[in-house]
Amino acid sequence: MIKSPSKYPANYKSIPALGRVSTGFGLKRPVLWAFLLILQIFTFAAAQGSDVEITLDVVAKKAAVTGSYTRNEVQAAKSNISFALGVAGVEGLGERIGDVRAFDADGAELLLRRLVAGEYLAPRPPVRWSYEIDLRPPANRLASPHVSWLGTSGGLLMLGDLLPFEGRRERSARVKIVLPKGWLAISTYGTGPDGTMIIADVSRAVVAIVRETERPIEYRSRRGTKYEMLITGEWQFTRADAEEMLGEIAEEYEKLFDRGPAEKVLVNLLPFPDGGGVGEWAAETRGQTVTIVSGDTPFKTQSSQRLHEQLRHELFHLWLPNGVKLTGNYDWFYEGAALYHSLKTGARLGRISFTNFLETLSQAATIEARMPAGSQIVSLGGRPSGNATGVYARGILTAFALDLAMQDASRGKRSMDVFLKRLYVENRERESEGNATILRMLGEAPETTLIAERHIKGSERLELGKLALPAGILWDGRRFALSEKPTGRQRAILRDLGYNSERRRPRYQNEK
Ligand SMILES: [Zn+2]
Repeated sequence: MIKSPSKYPANYKSIPALGRVSTGFGLKRPVLWAFLLILQIFTFAAAQGSDVEITLDVVAKKAAVTGSYTRNEVQAAKSNISFALGVAGVEGLGERIGDVRAFDADGAELLLRRLVAGEYLAPRPPVRWSYEIDLRPPANRLASPHVSWLGTSGGLLMLGDLLPFEGRRERSARVKIVLPKGWLAISTYGTGPDGTMIIADVSRAVVAIVRETERPIEYRSRRGTKYEMLITGEWQFTRADAEEMLGEIAEEYEKLFDRGPAEKVLVNLLPFPDGGGVGEWAAETRGQTVTIVSGDTPFKTQSSQRLHEQLRHELFHLWLPNGVKLTGNYDWFYEGAALYHSLKTGARLGRISFTNFLETLSQAATIEARMPAGSQIVSLGGRPSGNATGVYARGILTAFALDLAMQDASRGKRSMDVFLKRLYVENRERESEGNATILRMLGEAPETTLIAERHIKGSERLELGKLALPAGILWDGRRFALSEKPTGRQRAILRDLGYNSERRRPRYQNEK
């Protein structure tokens, strides 16, 4: 069954409201009403959107999908139907697709040629299509926050790998998900009267599939963002714990960036599809949706600490990189900053001890030391060298070094906090290259210029013995440790890093 796009009225979300207006003001304002309707039809014709219907079979873990491409794009004469073939290290995604059929504008079926699994070529531009997709969970459980799958207690639809929009510029769609009785689809998208979601870019869309009985935790921040957190499965932390953490971290980051990340945010926390994976977790923040797939921890205290750590890291990404229009590969920076700032936030909120804070940085230094000499975290115009773990380890240390250098040189006026806020505010709307923008900003002060030249653009190793001295933190060749008697100036920086905060919240102290 192929759905016709014309079944939907123009910008149909507004139609019921207009209908009510027309009965209320029918006689007084008929002209205005008609005019509005014409405008809406015009808008609809100009941007003929895609319509998609996804029918899920939760038991068999598969979906039947029907839909259409926008008419504009068809005129651009694209004759292929392409799916994402790999996402975040998961290859062979096209193998899940079967029974692909396509039709032209007149409804005639097109004979498709399969180029590879997930890539099809039609003799004429296809307008409508249908297929089936196998949604069994990925073999590697750590891939589960990155791809679509259905498990026994629900799953995830990552529309980027579920719909054939690969390589297409126009990726907006009206998506209807048809579920068996007893199941719900939850996302950040507004829905029309029949439950259809209006999605501006399917490649950033995530939909959680849960049982009808699941109720998300809701948190409305002071700056007005509506956060929903969906917790599937059994965990050792309580819902009250989770709610407190969500609110605490959201407010902390909204204060840092002076803005909520979006109108609506969805946080999905779910167990691995096949259960298990104690101690392991993987996550992705795509668009305005955070997805954490995790095993539990052996002990209750670890369980809440870990959730706090997961939320600190992933919620940060709602602002950086997801809230800015920076382009290119600058993950060394936003991952380094997410690791560093979430660590600092953990210490500031008293959720981790300062000893933990230093231990994590010491571990990063150990990992970083294994990077081959000459490795760079950024090479302009090319790919970063070194493996991701090494790059992120150097990323967090670089963020630490920048923070301390800035605070030391400016007596606290400049800091990583101030830098992150500025980067966010200045690039929310402006499209520019990420690395160039960050390096330009670092070039504005002598202390950061030096670090950028030698350790970011250059491949010189950070001098661990020196970088933490502004905070009175020493490197003994193996780990960072606090000096016996920090000076007043060092103490001011230590306070910014969250030193002593744990005393205010002893129950979360994490000394081993
Ligand atoms: Zn991250």
